[in-house]
Amino acid sequence: MNPARRVAFDVLRAVADSDAYANLLLPQELRRAGLSPADAGLATELTYGTLRRQGTYDAIIEQASGRSIDTIDPPVRDALRLGVHQLLSTRVASHAAVNESVELVRRAGAPNAAGFANAVLRRIARDNPGDWLQRVDAAARSDDERLGLRYSHPVWVIRAFRRALAAEGRADELDELLAADNVSPSVTMTALPGLADIPADRARTPYSPLGFRLDGGDPEPMVRRAEGRIRVQDEGSQLAALALSRALPVRAGERWLDLCAAPGGKTAVLAAEALAGGAVVEANEISPARARLVRSSVAGVPLEVPVSEEDGRERAGRGRYDRILVDAPCTGLGALRRRPEARWRKSPADVPDLSALQRELLSAAVDALAPGGVVAYVTCSPHLAETAVVVADVRAAHPDLRELDAREVVRAVSRGEIDLPEPQDGSGRAQLWPHRHGTDAMSITLLQKP
Ligand code: SAM
Repeated sequence: MNPARRVAFDVLRAVADSDAYANLLLPQELRRAGLSPADAGLATELTYGTLRRQGTYDAIIEQASGRSIDTIDPPVRDALRLGVHQLLSTRVASHAAVNESVELVRRAGAPNAAGFANAVLRRIARDNPGDWLQRVDAAARSDDERLGLRYSHPVWVIRAFRRALAAEGRADELDELLAADNVSPSVTMTALPGLADIPADRARTPYSPLGFRLDGGDPEPMVRRAEGRIRVQDEGSQLAALALSRALPVRAGERWLDLCAAPGGKTAVLAAEALAGGAVVEANEISPARARLVRSSVAGVPLEVPVSEEDGRERAGRGRYDRILVDAPCTGLGALRRRPEARWRKSPADVPDLSALQRELLSAAVDALAPGGVVAYVTCSPHLAETAVVVADVRAAHPDLRELDAREVVRAVSRGEIDLPEPQDGSGRAQLWPHRHGTDAMSITLLQKP
C-alpha cells in the first residue's frame, strides 16, 4: 500500500466521520507518517482533489454502480471517491488506482464490499473522463445542476455566486469562478509595512504593496527567521486591511479596533500601519482559544495591542474609535479553494443566522465610531445576503453614514490596474474574486460617520 494513499484515505475518513478540517489535519498526518516530499505532494493532491471534486465523483459512482451514493457504506464511499479521482484526474496507472482502493476497502473492515468496489472502479476505468462528464451532464435536471456536477459545487452556492457576479454585470464569469475554486491557490506572503522588506529575489503579487509569492516550499522557516514580520496571508486580506488603514491619512493618536480579530493576520497589518502613523490598536475575539492566536500574531510588531475576549456586539461600545475593522464571521464561500471540504459543510440555512450576526456587529461598530471615524466591513464571502444586504440594512438604520468608495481606495492602494466594476446597486463596495484577482472573494465596504 502506497503510504500517500493511506494518509489521504485516513484524512477523508476523519473529514467525513469527525468533521475534521483537511487543511489542519493533513499536515499533522504527513508529519506522523514521515512521508518523503514526493509522497507528501501526492497525498495532498489526492486528499484535496478528492474532497473538491466529490460532487462530480459521487454522480459518476452512482451511474457506474446503479446505487444512490447515500446507500454505500461511508468507508467504501471514501475509497471509491479516492479511486475515481486517481482514475479520472491523475496519471496514476489504472491498475494501481483500482487495486489499492480495493485494498483500502478491505483494510477499512469491509471485505464483503471489496468485490463491489472492484467492479465499480473497473467499470469507471473502462471509459475516459470526457465520457463520464458527458453522462453526468446528460443526467442533470437543470442548468444549475449541470454546472454543479461539472464543477463540483452545491447548487445553492452556484446561485449565490451567479447573483453576486450579476450584481456587478459579470454573470458571464461564473464558469471561470467555479473552475478557479477547484485549483489550489499559490502561497502568498506579506511583509509587514515598515517592519520587513520583500526579499529581492521574490516575485511581487500584482496588487498589494506588501505581497510576494513563495513559489513552492515551506513558508515556516522564512516566517520564523523574520519573527512573524513576514507571514502567510492572502493578497485579498492584505488589501482589506490596507483599505481601512489607508482610507484616510492617519492622524497621530487615532484609536483603532479590530472587532473580530482571530487568527489575527489583518490585526498584524493594522498594527504595523498604526505604528507607522502614531495610532494605537486594540483587538477583540470572542473565542479565548482563538484570541491567543491574535496575541501571537501581533507579537512581532513593537506596539502593544491589547486583546479582549468578548462578544463584539458588546465590546465595541466600550470605547470610541477612529477606525474599526469588522471582519465578520461568514459562510466563507469566498475561500472554497483553500478549504476543500467547506463547500459540502455549509448550507443555505447558515446564511440567515450569520447575516443577522453580521448586521449586529456592524451596527455596534458604527455606534462606537468617533465623529469622522471609518468602519471597514469585510467578509470572505461574496454572498449578497452577507455583503450588500447587510450594509443596506445598517445604512437604512443609520442614515447619517456616508459610504466611501472602497474601489477607489483599493485602486489607490494597489500597485497595478485592478479590475473592480461598479456594483449595479451604485454602492462603493469592492468585491475581489479568485478567478479575476487570484485572491479569496473578499468583499470590502467602507462607511464613515459624519
Ligand atoms: N480578521 C481575521 C484575520 O484576518 O485573521 C479573521 C476574522 S474571522 C473572518 C471572524 C472571527 O470572528 C472568528 O475568529 C470568530 O471566532 C469571531 N467571532 C464570531 N462571532 C463573534 C462575535 N460575536 N464577536 C467577536 N468575534 C466573533
